[in-house]
Amino acid sequence: MTLLEKAIDRLPDKGYLNLEIPKGINLVEEINRMRKEKNAIILAHYYQTGDIQDISDFLGDSLQLARAAEKTDADMIVFCGVHFMAETAKILNPTKKVVLPDLLAGCSLADSCSGEGLRELKKKHPNAIVVSYINCDSSVKAESDIIVTSSNAEHIINSLPKEQEIIFAPDRNLGRYINQVTGRNMILWDGACIVHEAFSLERIAQQMLDHPKAKLIAHPEAQKPVLQVAHYIGSTANLLNYVANDDSQEFIVATEEGILHEMRKRAPGKILIPALTIDDTCNCSECHFMKLNTMAKLYLCMKYELPEILMDEEIRLKALRPINKMLEMSKAIK
Ligand code: SF4
Repeated sequence: MTLLEKAIDRLPDKGYLNLEIPKGINLVEEINRMRKEKNAIILAHYYQTGDIQDISDFLGDSLQLARAAEKTDADMIVFCGVHFMAETAKILNPTKKVVLPDLLAGCSLADSCSGEGLRELKKKHPNAIVVSYINCDSSVKAESDIIVTSSNAEHIINSLPKEQEIIFAPDRNLGRYINQVTGRNMILWDGACIVHEAFSLERIAQQMLDHPKAKLIAHPEAQKPVLQVAHYIGSTANLLNYVANDDSQEFIVATEEGILHEMRKRAPGKILIPALTIDDTCNCSECHFMKLNTMAKLYLCMKYELPEILMDEEIRLKALRPINKMLEMSKAIK
């Protein structure tokens, strides 16, 4: 199945795609009104467009959003991110309605791994435990022992016994990086994020020559050669903190471009340069899955409470265990 076929397969009712927005309405006012009326909370990832970030009740990375979803007492969670993130919110909140503005908002990384494939790999390594990055679908979570995010992966892996055999899925770049910083030799699933794999070492090197005072900061989903020359490697939340607190005034940022919106707010006056990608004809450092969500779709999604995330209860319960394990094991992390 192609990525698009998988995404279309997720659509329970394609009718909502034809819904229209009444002429002349103010989207911001309408979204604010419905948020109150419906006791809804809007959770948004840093990779969303600036207008969606600005209207959200809570903005965060995967770990922060999972925690916010766990704590909310809203009746409806409007998740502005991609499908696996909204699914995580549903796993944590089975009695609440969880909606996603565009159900086609998938993820190349999540789609690289299936529960079935992971089951096969587990058969070959019967003594291994499975640690999965949160960027995976519920069938993969259900086959996992612990979920991690890029904010807590190092901490969680370090807290496991040294001799424990570990399968890490689905991101090979993050897995390789965690192997390096923890001295482990985890078995890695061969998946990747199309956005973070698109950065060009050659073009970034030229950017570093052009901006000799700039520090290169990178997300660990980027490929090893980029990470090797980075001044700082961190999760989305850590990259934001680093830029705000470091003395440098100039940064080349090797992660999804949406983060720059919040970075500019937290580090006003600092020069932020998006790292260049292999293809100079496209905005490859923008995640086109994330950018499928728009203010218009957010409005429709809140008005019609569609498309809704629905899930098989048996899978949900299996997927809940490793997520709870992560939330428990990462309590010490801010
Ligand atoms: S940036 Fe990469 S990992 Fe994140 S949602 Fe997009 S494709 Fe998936």
